[in-house]
Amino acid sequence: MIDVTLDHVSKQFGNVKGVADVHIEIKPGEFFTFLGPSGCGKTTTLRMIAGFYFPSAGRILFGNQDVTNLPPNKRNTGMVFQNYALFPHMTVFENIAFGLQVRKTSKSEIVQRVERAQKQVHLDGYGNRRIDQLSGGQQQRVALARALVIEPQILLLDEPLSNLDAKLREETRLEIKRLQLELGITTIYVTHDQAEAMSMSDRIMVMQGGVVQQIGTPEQIYNRPVNRFVASFIGESNLWEGTVERIEGEEVVVRFAPDLILRGLVHNSSPACKLEVGASITASIRPESVLEVRSEELQQENVVKGNVTISEFTGISVNYMTQIGTMQLKAMFVNQGHRIRQRGEEIAFFIPKESIYFVG
Ligand code: ATP
Repeated sequence: MIDVTLDHVSKQFGNVKGVADVHIEIKPGEFFTFLGPSGCGKTTTLRMIAGFYFPSAGRILFGNQDVTNLPPNKRNTGMVFQNYALFPHMTVFENIAFGLQVRKTSKSEIVQRVERAQKQVHLDGYGNRRIDQLSGGQQQRVALARALVIEPQILLLDEPLSNLDAKLREETRLEIKRLQLELGITTIYVTHDQAEAMSMSDRIMVMQGGVVQQIGTPEQIYNRPVNRFVASFIGESNLWEGTVERIEGEEVVVRFAPDLILRGLVHNSSPACKLEVGASITASIRPESVLEVRSEELQQENVVKGNVTISEFTGISVNYMTQIGTMQLKAMFVNQGHRIRQRGEEIAFFIPKESIYFVG
């Protein structure tokens, strides 16, 4: 187990900004994920850790060792690429053994270690199969075994599940997590899939446009997003713009439309948000935090009413898009077999003040 530090690392490709001033301290044994949309700089950051790119500025440390300018083969990392980068005409055994042969490991040890790696990824008995005779999921496991067989200090995974179908992706993410916990290996994972990041990671770094937006546990990132981008990229969010009317002790009263006022909590706000009387702010309201109420309760605080514009049944949940005056509200309920409201029906919601988070 080893810690990894990126000390104010930047990468510039000519005039193109790859990433700017990334500073992270990844703990030994941690499962750390880079998450963000296409082009945000995740792969560039991972490639600098692997040694395929050298930073334009900053330092990279594995434990106390400065590896900033070391080539990939001098760093003890195992990498799984998005397209796996396997040798198609070679066997499973030959693919997994490749890194050990390069390192001039003895034949008997190669056999022993490849067999162990095959077992770890549930591919025992597949040694003689050629790669082009395997399914996508099996190829993915060969790639993982090939990364693990060299017993790296750090495992680097670049969108390893993106070529698998939805069901296999879910199974494989559990498998990878199980292996990572079993081996206790420091793991850095790149994905644009927020559900994958949330379910697997100890901590997540959210990036956009080459810049780090937030670093935190899945819970911190989801419940306390630092800005609009994080609130909308992770999970779903109703982002409502309004004006602060009053601040009453711990509570803030915000007007979102002439006849739409909600009460929130002052401490439920990101540092980027200035809650002052008259300030324009953005509130994030998660669809699952809204409660349906009977319209008799309309006089109560934070109760709003509207008409369903979209009614969606997924099996697990019932989702309503509702027009509330000039605002749209998405609400999500776990399916409990109740009658599903249809488009055009009137509906009332309670938005708890604890569920309103001010992001900017
Ligand atoms: P994706 O999910 O699409 O792989 P990403 O978040 O991994 O995206 P990067 O591949 O790291 O993003 O790219 C970050 C930025 O750096 C982009 O603007 C990209 O065009 C640029 N970039 C990446 N590699 C190079 C390169 N070798 N030469 C020039 N520009 C590059």
